[in-house]
Amino acid sequence: MENRNTIDILIIDDTAADARLFQLMLEDQSPLIGDITLLTGSQAAFRTFTDQFPEIIFMNIGAFSEDQIESLEKLVHQSQSYVIATSDIDDHSLAEKAIRAGAQDFLVKGQFTSEELIKMVELAHIKHRRDKKIRWAQKTGKLAAWSYQASTQLVDLSDASIFLSEAQLDFLRVEVVQAVEDALAGKSWKKEIPYTLAGDDDVVKEKKYFLLHLEPFSQESHPDIIQGTIQDISERKKTLELQEETHQKYMDIFANSSDGIYLSTVLGLPKECNKSGLEIFGISADSMSQTNLHHFFDPKKGHEVLVDIGYKKPIKNREIEIIRKDGSVRNCLISVVYFSNESDMYTGILRDITERKIAEKIKRTRLLELESNQLKEKFIAAISHEMRTPMNAIVGLSNLLLDTSLNDEQRGYLKSIHHSSEQLLGILNDILDISSLKNGKIVFENKNFDIHDLLHNIVHNLSYKVADKDVRLELSIDPQLPKILKGDKLRINQILYNLAGNAVKFTDKGFVRINCSLLGQSGDTVLVKFSIADSGIGIPVEKQKAIFDSFTRIKYKERIFEGTGLGLAISKNLIEQQGGKIWVTSKPNEGSTFFFDMVLEIGEETTPETHTQQPSETLIIHPNRIMIAEDNKMNQLVARKLLTKRWPELEIVIANNGQEALDLVDEHFDVILMDLYMPVMDGYAATKAIREHHNPNISTLPILAMTADAQIQEGDKYLKYHLDGFIVKPFDPSVLYEKILAHLNRTHAKL
Ligand code: ADP
Repeated sequence: MENRNTIDILIIDDTAADARLFQLMLEDQSPLIGDITLLTGSQAAFRTFTDQFPEIIFMNIGAFSEDQIESLEKLVHQSQSYVIATSDIDDHSLAEKAIRAGAQDFLVKGQFTSEELIKMVELAHIKHRRDKKIRWAQKTGKLAAWSYQASTQLVDLSDASIFLSEAQLDFLRVEVVQAVEDALAGKSWKKEIPYTLAGDDDVVKEKKYFLLHLEPFSQESHPDIIQGTIQDISERKKTLELQEETHQKYMDIFANSSDGIYLSTVLGLPKECNKSGLEIFGISADSMSQTNLHHFFDPKKGHEVLVDIGYKKPIKNREIEIIRKDGSVRNCLISVVYFSNESDMYTGILRDITERKIAEKIKRTRLLELESNQLKEKFIAAISHEMRTPMNAIVGLSNLLLDTSLNDEQRGYLKSIHHSSEQLLGILNDILDISSLKNGKIVFENKNFDIHDLLHNIVHNLSYKVADKDVRLELSIDPQLPKILKGDKLRINQILYNLAGNAVKFTDKGFVRINCSLLGQSGDTVLVKFSIADSGIGIPVEKQKAIFDSFTRIKYKERIFEGTGLGLAISKNLIEQQGGKIWVTSKPNEGSTFFFDMVLEIGEETTPETHTQQPSETLIIHPNRIMIAEDNKMNQLVARKLLTKRWPELEIVIANNGQEALDLVDEHFDVILMDLYMPVMDGYAATKAIREHHNPNISTLPILAMTADAQIQEGDKYLKYHLDGFIVKPFDPSVLYEKILAHLNRTHAKL
């Protein structure tokens, strides 16, 4: 109805005649007057209008009972129309009451003409339109005025009711009083008030912010009525908070990033730079503004990046160098983000990869070192292997030579040759050992052995070495320890001999104490701990780790000790590959103690094996004819000499290779000694051919391998090749004799 350009009117009056009179005065008097509705029944009847009240309402309030005032207030509130109170009585205080209750005007019946009434309606129309605009603005801007009367202490927030709930209004009434008091106390004229409404479960249901403004007044003569505005600024506040949060988040990232982040013009003049960035450039925050960051870019790749920045080309993780003022260099990856085409600013992100580069370099060098070490070891192992055969000849021949008639001087030189060559052989064996260990080629035995025998043997052997020293050799064995254990006796012997040998070597005075104790037992396994203590020269702390590496030896100014620096490396490898651990405690000039532990099985006592008995020669047959299949002339000579030395009557036939051995095999032999690596046909092939011989007397001939390859004994490898046994070069003459006799007897026992 209001949309039409006419004014609709509602007249509420108890007296129907009065209402009718109003209608007549207005009807058809002006083209502006639209529909006129009369309500003459009960006062409450206006409730039938729900949302569409006419623009102007005349409401008769008679004598102004409290009820009527309340109704008026309600009507004003609900209708938002232009309400004019009418009365029969012309009374100023009544008029004031009406206006206070929200009426826009007050009219005394019978005191105006029809024209005056029409004028009034037309003006009301204009005022109403204007008020509506203001209200709309208030509602949209959530801004309203309030007033406070000091004398009555009443707060009028009626305007604000357009956008505030009852609860908010109640809350703000208190705040307004407080704000006025604050202003009177000389505090601020403006106040931001947070408001929260908790739900039943104490959870914040509603959170708002209000801005309270006071119209300034002088403190000396403060007026009775103080006014101000109230505005709901929740939205703005929320946006601000969100902005602040986002800003803070980015500031945190900027400040705490481990990447250097800076803002600069494309010419290198910095605006901002975070801590990591300052560190990379090597500048302080204070000096930043006087610095051109681009001066730190290296002249090659850095320069290329700068050219691209000039053209605003995209740059992502490009490697450059930042060269600081002091000359130090940081390796970085740079990425660049441009602001916009118009702006001459860009953001640079620098990732410092210097440490990573160094680490990579170290890794590369280590790898190279490792590779070259491995190559070195391989080379040495190969050479050592080749050297063993001639060494065998030297040891063997010097041994034979010692049995001939020599004068004292000759014997002295020869002894030195013999000792040195044995020592050299020891080194070669060590080298081959460590190489096998490193390549995982060693297989450990698990056989019964007597730990007491083993330890006593070591002490016995070492006793010769301490004979000319003031050193006591002591041995103690835990009585709880089972006597027979299962494991690799030879390897344990080797470890103990290494460690105890070192102890003797590095001790001139005092003691060398070997101890073996039981640490624990579980089922049929025991944890055994060995210790080898000495009162020798000791080992400085900083060397105590390195001595376990290959070829590491401590240099002493005053003295030279024999050795290769391989013993401990071999021992450590042997122990660790059997699941044990080795460690040392030592003090220079006081002594050292080496410890190692090992898990071993408890063995069972066996009746002594026949081979441990010394073969009694009177009972056995001597060999008459032996074939030596060997291509190396020196070795042929050594073997021949050793054999004839033992059995002067023995007939020896030499075959220079496997094929020759095969050709000769028909001429009756007691034993064949077979070198494995020979030209034309090797020992393996020759053995195979002999085993396939049609004559069983020949195919079952005892064949003993003669080899420099110590691996032959591992895992009974020789049996695979149908060999009856083996002799490792360089041979210990007694072992050679023993093995030959053992096989002769075996063959004869079979017959
Ligand atoms: P080698 O004894 O052949 O030189 P090792 O590997 O057995 O090689 O020992 C390495 C080094 O450790 C020795 O050269 C020596 O400096 C030191 N070392 C080993 N055992 C002892 C010990 N019991 N007392 C003092 N120093 C020792």
